[in-house]
Amino acid sequence: MGTGFVWHELFMWHSTGCHAGIYKPGLTIQPGTPFEEAETKRRFKNLLDVSGITDDLFHIRPRALRRDELEMVHSAAYLDELEAMSKAGGGAFSANTPFGAGSYDIAALSAGGVIEAVDAVMRGDVKNAYALVRPPGHHAVADAAMGFCLFANGSLAAKHAIEKHGLERVAIVDWDVHHGNGAQDIFWESSKVLTISIHQKGNYPSDSGCAEERGLGAGAGYNLNIPMLPGSGHGAYLGAMDTLIVPALREFDPQLIIVSCGFDAGAYDPLGRMLLHSDSFRDLTQRVMEAADISCKGKLVMCHEGGYEQNTVPYMGLAVIETLSGIKTGISDPNLNDMKGLFGQETQSYQREHLMEIRKLLQCPAETARRS
Ligand SMILES: [Zn+2]
Repeated sequence: MGTGFVWHELFMWHSTGCHAGIYKPGLTIQPGTPFEEAETKRRFKNLLDVSGITDDLFHIRPRALRRDELEMVHSAAYLDELEAMSKAGGGAFSANTPFGAGSYDIAALSAGGVIEAVDAVMRGDVKNAYALVRPPGHHAVADAAMGFCLFANGSLAAKHAIEKHGLERVAIVDWDVHHGNGAQDIFWESSKVLTISIHQKGNYPSDSGCAEERGLGAGAGYNLNIPMLPGSGHGAYLGAMDTLIVPALREFDPQLIIVSCGFDAGAYDPLGRMLLHSDSFRDLTQRVMEAADISCKGKLVMCHEGGYEQNTVPYMGLAVIETLSGIKTGISDPNLNDMKGLFGQETQSYQREHLMEIRKLLQCPAETARRS
């Protein structure tokens, strides 16, 4: 069985305007390029095409989710408001989440792409799949857009897996450099979805993502946050994966793993302060595949989230696709040696101590933990 791939040109037509980074242009801010725009993802897709690997992937056609499917997660009031604004030509829910005409429909197609990938994996058409979708989803909550995200793509896919495929245990592993606050919030009181987020401590959202946030009621103990210190490199991330994430996955024994795959923990990313490179993402992918092999015959769906550095994201993405599919393209990452050579790739002693502190917090009974 091969690897599925979701892509649609319309994903690239979701407009985030001419913001300068995340700020609206004005008399003192020159109009510029928003961080979240099409080019990084398009270059990722272009490298896949140039490498030839696209031809060896199983193409999964996305479909726009229906209103009742979006309501698995999102409130009617939010959907009404977003749809009206989208039809009226676009708008913004907050400074960092602008959108254009038709973005409601494109976001429904993006979420539907991840759900089609889940269906293909659950049917056994493919072993695993990568959904290169846009807009991203992991910050969106039930009743609001946040952090470039309109619909909660990964959470909708997890809900779909539970409601349509009858699964009882789905794991979401989020390695975007920002906290996976959306999935945490949506499944806060659920024991059916284990939400794990490894992210830069206090980055975005600045007020969530602490290790003490463990879930509530039936969901107590089913939310794991691993807030990494800025400057964490390959060693610290793999250490967190081996000592915290993989053991949690083994214990939960998921029937499907969904990865919110952001590349903004890459060393050159403008919105993160981490040091990862393409071999890091290759190894992280290998670890999560091994966990999926043990618990659910490899059933793994990755959905694309952040990653804003145009020259390096395509190679980190290619590394993930090569690992998922087991196909070697022979293309080498021109950035790899420089990124590997950055000081701090090995685990530093203070990083090891920090991980041990997090481990202690995660071992506390969840009921005694607080939510910040
Ligand atoms: Zn991010």
